[in-house]
Amino acid sequence: MQGEVECVNVADMEYISTRGSGPPVSSKKAIIKGIAEDGGLYVPSDFPFLGPDPFFECGQSSYADKAAKILRAFLTDYLEKELISACQAAYAENFDSPLTVPVRFLKDGTAVLELWHGPTLAFKDIALQLMPHLLSVALQSEREKYEVVILVATSGDTGKAALEGFADVQGVRIFVFYPHEGVSEIQRLQMATQLGRNAGVCAVQGNFDDAQNGVKQIFSDPTINKKLAGFNFQLSSANSINWGRLAPQIAYYFTGYDEMVAAGKIKRGQPILICVPTGNFGNILAAYYAIKCGLPVSRLLCASNRNKVLTDFIRTGIYDRRREFYKTESPSMDILISSNLERLLFELAGRQSAVVCEWMGKVTSQGWYSITPDALSPLQSCFYGGFADQLETLQAIRETFRNQGYLIDPHTAVGYRVLQRYREETRDRAPALLTSTASPFKFNRAVLEALGRNTSGEDEFTLLKELAIISSQPVPSKLAELKTLPELHKGICAKDEMAKVLCQFLGME
Ligand SMILES: *Cc1c(COP(=O)(O)O)cnc(C)c1O
Repeated sequence: MQGEVECVNVADMEYISTRGSGPPVSSKKAIIKGIAEDGGLYVPSDFPFLGPDPFFECGQSSYADKAAKILRAFLTDYLEKELISACQAAYAENFDSPLTVPVRFLKDGTAVLELWHGPTLAFKDIALQLMPHLLSVALQSEREKYEVVILVATSGDTGKAALEGFADVQGVRIFVFYPHEGVSEIQRLQMATQLGRNAGVCAVQGNFDDAQNGVKQIFSDPTINKKLAGFNFQLSSANSINWGRLAPQIAYYFTGYDEMVAAGKIKRGQPILICVPTGNFGNILAAYYAIKCGLPVSRLLCASNRNKVLTDFIRTGIYDRRREFYKTESPSMDILISSNLERLLFELAGRQSAVVCEWMGKVTSQGWYSITPDALSPLQSCFYGGFADQLETLQAIRETFRNQGYLIDPHTAVGYRVLQRYREETRDRAPALLTSTASPFKFNRAVLEALGRNTSGEDEFTLLKELAIISSQPVPSKLAELKTLPELHKGICAKDEMAKVLCQFLGME
């Protein structure tokens, strides 16, 4: 990769908007606000140099301490001890691996970064277990005192991860809306059984878009916001464009690289490939930022499912969302508008906000835009785009299990297939780190089908047991216990009742 990293004085990192007209803010402000007032996303004013060995003086530190070390370079208005205690609280026994983010080495040499050992068994836990602590600290330095209300519309994974992260966090309430009959039974149970005095959940009669639109309407309704302010509430969102969700994801690329060195798979400084199953472009953007900070990576592989808008973009420079939307067996990647891509566009455009505004305006007004050759060339030298259809995804699950004795979920399988395709096409034999984004148990039905079982008519808990037998691994306790926990959140509301339900939850009626 280009060595255009700069060594900056990290004492005063600021966050600027990709759209150029919002004022620069501190990291605390960026985390509280989520999105800049001009509609842009916050990006660091510069990239700190961390190099290939940021942990050289850390010895045998925990993942929490290493994560705090990386975050210190970005969240410069937090005290070191605040970051260390936030990371230690976030990355503890709630992860079922003592390493938090362990790396598994497959027989074919691929290093797999397992990001799913947290409470909801998907990678969003890494950020959402930490972000509430970061937000809590940020709120303490606000002069006006108010309670933050985190409002989430979810298609499944994010809602539960946010609930787990924000449950019983001081100064914060959380409310999640999900589409009635639009999430898997496991996902429904995960949310319905959520504990926490500050947490609420309600199903919406409609699909995910209805839930999402309802939440957007609440955010932009001046009457509701005024009423909330009267009760000392301030709405906020925990979605993946918040800097507080992105920053924690940079750390694990450094620890993953470190593990590859420690295992003798690479020499320190040697460039690797990183392959990321991608939806909203948050996870892979964190890898790109790690490269900007000096992590030695020769290529980032962006893996999509059948909704391959990013593959086409990387290959042609044209982003075109005017296409059919497919529901796939990797639902967390079923996305046609990848919000975090805007942050990459900002870098590709040489940090010219006017150019970003033009492209983002076009995607809203006409549904597509085309980037300039000047921007396409750095895009293609850094990224490779590939996709896997349903057949290839299920085949990848079957093959890695049969040939390598390793079970992967459908999202990770998309990544694995794209990595294979890249190697076939380019003959590039560089060592690869594949990010694994969910436990195979979370997507038990698709995984069992891939292994040739007929799952129709079987209930979730039977399937979990069956997968445990086939894989000789125990059912993760967080899933097994769902059968015995009481369902606390059974509410269902109409699309136009969402604001009312929220106000009731907050005791404002
Ligand atoms: C959210 C999610 C993804 C996509 O990650 P992005 O950061 O949105 O690109 C991939 N896999 C799983 C299991 C997820 O939950």
